Parts: sequence; C-alpha cells; structure tokens
Amino acid sequence: MAAVSVALATTALFGLLMLVLLGSLLRSGVPGVLEWFGANVVLTAALPLLLARGHIPDGISVVVANFLVALAGSMLYAGFARFLGRSVHWPWLLLLTLANIPALAYWRYVVDSIPARVMIATFFAAAICFATAVLVARNRGADRARYPYVAAASLATVFGLCELARGLYFSTLPGVSSPLMFTTNVNVILLCVGAAIMPVMSMCAMLMVHDALLADARKAVNHDFLTGALSRTGFQAMARRRFAEADQHGVPLSLLIVDLDRFKAINDTFGHAVGDTVLREFAALTRVHLRRDDALARLGGEEFAILLPRTALPDALRVAERLRSEASRHAVSTEAGPCRYSISGGLALREQGETLDRLTTRADRALYAAKLGGRDRVCLHEAPMEQPAAFGAPN
Ligand code: GH3
Ligand code: MG
Ligand code: MG
Repeated sequence: MAAVSVALATTALFGLLMLVLLGSLLRSGVPGVLEWFGANVVLTAALPLLLARGHIPDGISVVVANFLVALAGSMLYAGFARFLGRSVHWPWLLLLTLANIPALAYWRYVVDSIPARVMIATFFAAAICFATAVLVARNRGADRARYPYVAAASLATVFGLCELARGLYFSTLPGVSSPLMFTTNVNVILLCVGAAIMPVMSMCAMLMVHDALLADARKAVNHDFLTGALSRTGFQAMARRRFAEADQHGVPLSLLIVDLDRFKAINDTFGHAVGDTVLREFAALTRVHLRRDDALARLGGEEFAILLPRTALPDALRVAERLRSEASRHAVSTEAGPCRYSISGGLALREQGETLDRLTTRADRALYAAKLGGRDRVCLHEAPMEQPAAFGAPN
C-alpha cells in the first residue's frame, strides 16, 4: 500500500500548491476560477480521508471520501464550462455526482466489492475527463492561443483513457474484496496517473486563464474602449502589415482621415454623453460600409483613420463620399431631438514604400483643405505636393 499512499499524499501536496496558485487568480473575476479553486479544496479535503482507510469508519474513508473526489471532478468540469462561456447544468451534474453515494454504499455494505467500487469511481472520472476534453476542444475562441486548449483537451483525453483502463482492469478481478488488489503494478501506475488529473488539469486551466488575460490586455491596448475601433497602437501594427502586403503584391492602398465637423458644438448643445453616442454611432456606421480587410481606427477625440487596402483613389473616393453622405443623413436621436452631424475627410494614395507618418501627413493636409473649404466634404492629396482637390457638399 506504500506506493498508493505516496501517490495520494503527493496529490494532496499538489492540491495545496494549486490552491495557492488558483487563489492568486480569484480576484481576476475570470469565470471558472472559483469552481477550479473549489475543486481543489474538496479534493484536498478528501485525500486525508482516503489515506486514513482502516483507521476511520469505512462510511467516511470509502463512501464520503470517494463522493468528495467525484464532486471535485464535477467542479473541475463546471470550471471549464463556465470559463468557456457554456452553461453548467448543475441539477444534472449534482444528481450524477450524488448517485455515487448509494452506489458506493451498496458495494461496501450490501455487497463488499472493491472492484465494483473502483469501477464506479473510475468510470465517473473517465466521463468527467472525456466531457472536459470535448468541451475544451469545441469552445476555443478565435482570438485564443491553440496551445493551452490542445494541451487541455489532449491531456483530459489521456486521463479519461487511463481511468477507463483502470476500471476495465478491475472488472477482470474476482469480486471478492482484497486490499492486495491495490498493490499490483497495473493499479499503482494507473492510480498515479489518476492522481495527476486534478493538478495537471488545474495547471491547464491556469494556462487558459493567463492566455485569456493576455488576450484581453492586448485587446485593450489595440482598441478604443468607446467605439471599438482600433487604437493608435493597434492601427500602427495593422498598417505595418497592410503596407508590407501592398509592397509585396504591388497593389494600391489608400488612407482616409475623417474628422467630425463642429463636434465641440455638439457637446455644448447636447452634452458630452450625446457626443460619445455620436462617436459610437459614426464608428458603427463606418463599419457597415467597410470591407473585411479595411481598418477603422480612432486616432483621438473625433478623428478617425480608415485604411483601404487594394484600393486606388477613384474607389477610395467613392467609399469616402458614401460615408460622408451617409453620416450627414444619419441623425442620432437624443432626448433634445435629433442630433445631425457631418464629417470632413482627407484622402491620400500611398506611394510605393511610403511610411505611415508621411501618408498620414498628406491625408491630414487634405483634411485641412476640406475644413478650410467649408467642411462636409472630402479632399484628395495627390502626391507629391499638388494642392488637394475638393469634392462634396457645396458651401
Ligand atoms: P472642426 O469642425 O474644426 O473639427 O471643429 P470641432 O469642434 O469638431 O473641433 P475641436 O477640435 O474644436 O473640438 C473637438 C471636440 O471634441 C472638443 C472635445 O471636447 C471633443 N471630444 C474629444 N474627445 C471626445 C470624446 O471622447 N467624447 C466627446 N463627447 N467629446 C470629445
Ligand atoms: Mg472636428
Ligand atoms: Mg479634430
């Protein structure tokens, strides 16, 4: 029994370690962390009871302890479900978990069969592992790294197979109970693998949490929280990629810089909150008119940049004009009545090898000309230094 005791004691130590590590994530508010933490608490409480077999009543060391191990497994699964945004069917999960109690009690007190009790525990654990593997494999978000998900699903599958194998191994043993059944090499090896389930799956869970926190942080840096458009940082990274593609394939690329007209007056008349709504609605309106590869960024205040890959000036001008006329037609409804707004735009076609700074400066110049020309219009900057040409609503 020494090997079995060592395996269980090692799991208890790892359980304590997981409690410390998961505890550090409790304040993150990430769904699932509480369930994973709870699973480790329950398992850590169950292991001393299992180790005390023979020294305390079997009702506790067999029935209660194995029920707690099953409950820990259910909580582990529930943590993954919550983390992945899936609902947890608690009544079913608890019912299945509670069903362990009469089954274990029957195979201890009515018919005393170690193989039957081990089969109950291992088949339940296998079901939890397979359900977790399917859950994780099916629910990876598009912006999530593959590694933690593939690792979690693969390990859960391996653990499920080992639990299944242990259950099947015990099904071949004679029904008469003998503690010597636990000391065979096959059992010790499979039990050690089983003892690793909770710590290893908890570590996979933590990898997934760290990946999610990293993705959230990246999203916050690269996006503007008010409009959901790219931030300046996100836009620079996107522009670098689009510029490289344009240079590689020798295709045109245009940049449109848009500024909402007399926005200060909108704030002054309708209030700052309405100003925010106008910015959000303008971004939403713009997204409707852009293609998948186009990029919208909020450069600051009420100024936006729109990158149009594979688009020469005539087409870019059509996009800009459509946006301008849609914006001027689109009124934002407020308590004080409809709030109308217009936009001015500056458009420039990127020259081969041109930097974002220089292209932005040229588009800005065209925008300045649009403002000077009376607003609610789009101007072009044609390289190298020609005067911007104006299009749009007459003064
Ligand atoms: P122009 O037509 O020349 O662009 O005039 P304008 O009033 O739009 O430009 P100006 O630079 O004078 O004012 C911009 C205003 O935008 C001032 C600032 O308070 C407001 N603003 C900047 N960021 C935000 C924001 O996030 N929300 C709101 N509601 N207002 C903002
Ligand atoms: Mg403005
Ligand atoms: Mg401005």
